[in-house]
Amino acid sequence: MRPDVELHLGDIVQLKKPHACGSNQWEVIRLGADIRARCCQCGRVVMIPRRRFGRLVRARQPRAQASEEDR
Ligand SMILES: [Zn+2]
Repeated sequence: MRPDVELHLGDIVQLKKPHACGSNQWEVIRLGADIRARCCQCGRVVMIPRRRFGRLVRARQPRAQASEEDR
């Protein structure tokens, strides 16, 4: 996946590195120079520099209700 992967608030992303709790699914809750993501399983919030985050993302799945407006 390219490093400048597109991210949107509310996206569920799968990271290559699972969290300590065993889940590798995260919800994007804040965008910026750092990405803030919440673990879908245990609710822990982490901040990861955007460039690093891009490399960690294995799959991105837009939130079900997401609009297609900025595609
Ligand atoms: Zn977790």
